[in-house]
Amino acid sequence: MYFVNDIVNYLPTKNHLKERVILITGAGDGIGKSAALACAKAGATVILAGRTPAKLDAVYTLIMAEGLPEPRIFAIDLEGATHDDYVNLAATIDQQFGRLDGLLHNAGTLGQRTPLSNYSVELWNKVMQVNLTAQFQMTQCLMAVLEKSADASVLFTTSGVGRAGRAFWGAYAVSKFAIEGMVQTWASEIEGLGSVRINAINPGATRTNMRAQAFPAENPYDLATAEDIMPAYLYLLGPDSKHINGQSLDAQIRKP
Ligand code: NDP
Repeated sequence: MYFVNDIVNYLPTKNHLKERVILITGAGDGIGKSAALACAKAGATVILAGRTPAKLDAVYTLIMAEGLPEPRIFAIDLEGATHDDYVNLAATIDQQFGRLDGLLHNAGTLGQRTPLSNYSVELWNKVMQVNLTAQFQMTQCLMAVLEKSADASVLFTTSGVGRAGRAFWGAYAVSKFAIEGMVQTWASEIEGLGSVRINAINPGATRTNMRAQAFPAENPYDLATAEDIMPAYLYLLGPDSKHINGQSLDAQIRKP
């Protein structure tokens, strides 16, 4: 049994993720960057995946400057990545580590805030590719290497607009609804079969570039920082959540 307060206020032990190998997409900025630092501080070797090598390099440098386990960098644009890219990624991880203990699907793109009747089909396809299809394909290709871990956590990123429809959120909202559905479907397929679990996390309103793009008039200093919401991420990527599968959980207490 879990309680939302326990997750949001979770206090990991010092070596919570020691010797775990965790891949994080969108690790160069925003929530993904904070997650990479938090996981490395908890002892994990982090695979930094993202589309802007300079941002990934900067996170690599930050992690090394703190004397944490050396991360790896995997440059990938989820919009154009192919099946072969994911197969190569899986083979490289298998060769270097022999297993994958965590996969945080964090990268995402907002698309347009506009009525669906006006939504560009081209943009719709791009958002669906980055926010849904690429994540499905990557997980499918990494499943064998995840199954080699004694305790593997796959964590997708959802949103409040992926749980209740809200006007003008377009393909972004629909992609997050689909993530919720994929998590439930996949989790029920693997329930009780092995050591992999699949869940979703909703960061809640968080001070990042995406949030500023979605709510340009909002004061960012009223929002939680990406660092503030890390307890729930560390909980769901670590051993204490081993029993949780098929859930969609919040990283912040929801405001009424
Ligand atoms: P940011 O825009 O700050 O970061 C998004 C990350 O995704 C960046 O690292 C970006 O890379 C990467 N990314 C975008 N497109 C691609 C692509 N085609 N290929 C590879 N990487 C890509 O957003 P957040 O940190 O806010 O968002 C992280 C997740 O949290 C997203 O899934 C978002 O939907 C979700 N979320 C965020 C909320 C918030 O309030 N911030 C609320 C609810 C959900 P680059 O920097 O190189 O462009």
